[in-house]
Amino acid sequence: MPVSLELFEEYEKKEKCGLFGIWGTSEASQIVYQGLFAQQHRGQESAGIAVSDGAALNGHAGMGLVSQVFTPRMLREELTGHAAIGHVRYSTTGSSKLCNAQPLLRQYLMGPVAVAHNGNLINAALLRKQYEEHGHIFQSTTDTEIIVHLLAKPTHVEKHDPLPHVLKHLQGAYSLLFLFPNRMEAVRDPWGIRPLVLGKTPQGHWCVASETCAFDAIDATCVREIEPGEIVRIDESGVHSRHFDAPAPELAHCVFEHVYFANPASNIFGQNVHRARERMGRQLAREAPVKADFVMPMPDSGRSAALGFANESGIAFEEGIVPNRFVGRTFILPGQAARDRAVALKLNIIPDVVDGKRVVIVEDSVVRGTTTQSKMRALRKAGAKEIHLRVSCPPIRHPCFYGIDFPTSTELIAHNRTVEQIRDFLEVDSVAYLSLEGLLSCMKLPANDYCTACWSGRYKVPIDQPQSKFSFERDQMKMF
Ligand code: SF4
Repeated sequence: MPVSLELFEEYEKKEKCGLFGIWGTSEASQIVYQGLFAQQHRGQESAGIAVSDGAALNGHAGMGLVSQVFTPRMLREELTGHAAIGHVRYSTTGSSKLCNAQPLLRQYLMGPVAVAHNGNLINAALLRKQYEEHGHIFQSTTDTEIIVHLLAKPTHVEKHDPLPHVLKHLQGAYSLLFLFPNRMEAVRDPWGIRPLVLGKTPQGHWCVASETCAFDAIDATCVREIEPGEIVRIDESGVHSRHFDAPAPELAHCVFEHVYFANPASNIFGQNVHRARERMGRQLAREAPVKADFVMPMPDSGRSAALGFANESGIAFEEGIVPNRFVGRTFILPGQAARDRAVALKLNIIPDVVDGKRVVIVEDSVVRGTTTQSKMRALRKAGAKEIHLRVSCPPIRHPCFYGIDFPTSTELIAHNRTVEQIRDFLEVDSVAYLSLEGLLSCMKLPANDYCTACWSGRYKVPIDQPQSKFSFERDQMKMF
């Protein structure tokens, strides 16, 4: 039966955004394009690049994948300049539309500025209300735009170095890239929630990315992480670091970057992602052993953890689920039957492998559970005799306000449900999750350096007023 691909977007787990910037090369926009391409997994809704020629900024952004937004001619002939920043977006504040595509390019008293943001500002609604009450007009519905208004504030404009003053007003998660005609500035929030790294190309050009896998794509070397609470300025005279004064009693690196979001080839928070996931799989095998014929990953993010599970348990590793690489973002109809059909379109299960077998499936996480249920049904239909689901993180019971698009608590499968009730819902023979202690034991840094709010409910950056993704949407006008 044909499946309509336009009605309802799969609502599982989505990252907000990837950043890339480079300084000092006439091929800046083309290199940024490659850096964004390598980080496409961090956002597929829109992409944008802004360039500086030393006097002015020029930019282009569009909806869709990096390869759909830019043409080689555009990069070569229109986005010309010696410095550029770029952004791939998945929306967590503000809907998916062109006015919210980044980098945001704006003109203020001191000239043009482009801003690209990964994270979520938890006080954006409050700040925006204050500014709107003073007559400010916003052109987008993202939290990021408030940063430009703060930059243009008369008391900030007067400052020799306005950024530290601007950043003091922001609360929440923000890895930022700013491009001015004469400089690029890279910023990481004092909690270090989202990653941001500094690199250098073999030709000596400084670059900044969300993930180190972007450096691999352009043959650059990772020099170091941008530190929490640090501003790195890159200009003609080189790299200059300074810290800004904002309170953060402890670090709060997002563990979910390791569990699901980041590319396995990347090093995040000082640790390789594939290795971290492998350790999670090993720990899971120790915590929740099971007798089975083989261990199989749920493509693709469960692969490293499945390998760890297999190695630790001594159970054979097997590939029996083939993802359809051409489906891209999954759009599914509401309703479980339609969701089952959409999963069948996205994943091919090999009956020859699973028929009559006891299978351990390793999944990185379960959010709503509806898509996982479809996957488990498909396995059963393909003949699996027993299905044992092993999840390489604890049950997600709380929403994320720091830049991951999780549903509200009540939509989460683990909210107010026991593991046995989840097993029942997913129609499998057993379910086990990695414990929080077990997960943190797989991390390189001390447990206190990480955010675990979506599992523990402990929000290190206090949430006074929960903001929804559509806080700033009013839908009272439209332009064609
Ligand atoms: S709540 Fe979860 S997803 Fe959000 S930053 Fe914390 S660990 Fe990451």
